[in-house]
Amino acid sequence: MASKKQKKAAAEAEKELKKHPKILIAVIAFVLILAIAAGAYWYFFIYKKDDPEKNPGGAGDIVSGELSIHFLELGNKYAGDCTLIKTGNTEVLIDAGSRQNSAEAIVPYIQQYCTDGVLEYVIATHAHQDHIAAFVGTTSAKGVFESFECGTIIDFPRTNQSETTGSGGRSLYGKYVDALSAEVGAGAKHYTALECVNGENGAKKSYALGEGMEMTILYQKFYETKSSDENNYSVCMLLTRGNDRFLFTGDLEKEGEESLAESNDLPHCKLFKGGHHGSRTSSNDVLLSEITPENVCICCCAGAPEYSTDPAAIFPTQEMIDRVARYTKNIYVTSLATDVVYEPKASWNYTSMNGNIVVTVTAEGLTVTGSNNSTVLKDTEWFRANRTWPSYGVQ
Ligand SMILES: [Zn+2]
Repeated sequence: MASKKQKKAAAEAEKELKKHPKILIAVIAFVLILAIAAGAYWYFFIYKKDDPEKNPGGAGDIVSGELSIHFLELGNKYAGDCTLIKTGNTEVLIDAGSRQNSAEAIVPYIQQYCTDGVLEYVIATHAHQDHIAAFVGTTSAKGVFESFECGTIIDFPRTNQSETTGSGGRSLYGKYVDALSAEVGAGAKHYTALECVNGENGAKKSYALGEGMEMTILYQKFYETKSSDENNYSVCMLLTRGNDRFLFTGDLEKEGEESLAESNDLPHCKLFKGGHHGSRTSSNDVLLSEITPENVCICCCAGAPEYSTDPAAIFPTQEMIDRVARYTKNIYVTSLATDVVYEPKASWNYTSMNGNIVVTVTAEGLTVTGSNNSTVLKDTEWFRANRTWPSYGVQ
């Protein structure tokens, strides 16, 4: 016969058994709730968040990534553009000027940041050498296209340039076309800005860069209309990070800026890459009054008589400064001319002004750091000797 103790143990075991189904149901319910929550998180915060087509109305609200925008010095005394944008492991390169030998400065600089050798996006704004030469490079320095694997290349729908020279050889533009073809042969996708804004042939108007950031190609009429000024063919791009906007317009001139402002609902911009190296004919009020820029970065060799010996036409011009001064005193310039001679033949040398300008955007805000110094243009020696800050300007 079972003892009292044994009977008690059996009764308790029976009780435990009765409890088990309840525990089992509780465990199953808990796992189900977890799975549903994980699925919802993935759908709303991972699948939908960064894709503008699934989430129209802009980039995701959650912005965690750091963004850096680099305006490069180009290793010679000429004005030209090369802008590297980096967020996470994604890089966007806009232009590679100013001459073919600039590849010697540009490629090693990019390699410091683009450690996987892949430039996810490349934009060539227009066919002038000070924007495309270093895509080609020299016999001793490989160009950007040869040095990096490119994901998607977006360039100008129109040009007035010829692919051949008068003597039948390949022009610089022709060499760019050849290097681009080789890159496409190696797997890069190539679209014109017009294909992007129209969403044709697989091109998209907006590309998600991840971490709440995206780039949008903006329409302007010279994507499909002839201009006698090559600069007006420039590809324009708006970069978005959460609520912050950054605008890049290549060398777009007044007519192009007017069309850009007319065709788009342009937002206030944290940063504007100053139009056409700070010339008189770009960064016009039709554009500035809409984007009301907080920071303006100019890619030029300040004071160089490259295009003119008229001091008023030399970059960065007084007229551009007078227009920008209404909105900000934060103007930065990459390089500075030295040993300037106007007569009988213009000549000059160069050194750094701010140097490579790095704009960093984090949750704490935006900072601008020059590799040489971070002095704003109006406080530089060159400015005091050559330009004036208007009395109505931001002080
Ligand atoms: Zn240019």
